[in-house]
Amino acid sequence: MGETIGFIGVGAMGAPMARRLVAAGHDLTVYDPNKAALDAIVAAGAKAAPSARALADSVETIFVSLPTPNIVKAVAQEVADGSKLKLFIDLSTTGPRAAQEIGALLNAKGVEMLDSPVSGGVGGAEKGTLAVMVSGSEAQWERWRPVLEVIGKNAFFVGETQGHGQMMKLINNMLSATAMAASAEAFALGAKAGLDPDVMVQVINAGSGANTAVRDKFPKSVLTRTFDYGFRTELMYKDVRLCLEEAEALGSPMWVGQPVKQWFSLALARGGPGEDFTNIMRYVEEQAGGIEVRSRKNDPKP
Ligand code: NAD
Repeated sequence: MGETIGFIGVGAMGAPMARRLVAAGHDLTVYDPNKAALDAIVAAGAKAAPSARALADSVETIFVSLPTPNIVKAVAQEVADGSKLKLFIDLSTTGPRAAQEIGALLNAKGVEMLDSPVSGGVGGAEKGTLAVMVSGSEAQWERWRPVLEVIGKNAFFVGETQGHGQMMKLINNMLSATAMAASAEAFALGAKAGLDPDVMVQVINAGSGANTAVRDKFPKSVLTRTFDYGFRTELMYKDVRLCLEEAEALGSPMWVGQPVKQWFSLALARGGPGEDFTNIMRYVEEQAGGIEVRSRKNDPKP
């Protein structure tokens, strides 16, 4: 039988996750201040709540997928007093410190929290193939695992310590960001030397340089020059910054991460927060001078 679930934040990631929950037969009520985003989910079979607080007065469990730690905290504060709410499942990336703080403020009002960030992008959210990394009460994990597996077939319990799911996510995204920045440098060099970027993708994907940027992001959004992967520069910058802050706080070396942050900081300054993070390629090209990494597949034959 379907669960009764609240869902707050139906943006790039939240919308496909919410659609999958509706399609799996769950009774979903959604809140998002963006009316167009809300209407699209209602058209897919969910109900709409007039506010986050109203939602917390009507359901025991709320999932959220929100942009920043501060927004998650503000929404948690708003729903914590809801008359029905018992469990808050946070699918956003906030970092472990924010997760502990948000967990504590919810616990003080008798609400439990699972921090459950996700990885795999908009495509993974649409297909239900996300990696979900959960921490908090093991009993709640067991109870909600079948629902989390609708969102991501790769759902992992990281441990009972609040924030460990978030720590796992930051480590994952630092590696993802590093792959993107290093691959952009590598493709700029290859293009300058005269290599065909399509051939580079094939060789790297078959070789020991293989990584998620070259596997997924370059063919879909860089070589096509569409720069539309579905993840904003501000969000990638946030994840890299939070990971470096954790490394510094714990006294663990993350030297390679510093220049990765600098590249995304440059992209943020040049392209603004809302640009897709794959645009980093254009800023690396500028530094390389006079080259463009694009597919030659549709070029006229010489
Ligand atoms: P998004 O901005 O597209 O979606 C966020 C949604 O939250 C929007 O619809 C917005 O209207 C809504 N929102 C904003 N403020 C709100 C508030 N105060 N109350 C209620 N709703 C509010 O962002 P996204 O790309 O879907 O990312 C969501 C989270 O998932 C982020 O934490 C991000 O780091 C993480 N994430 C994103 C991706 C990705 O590929 N996009 C992948 C993994 C994790």
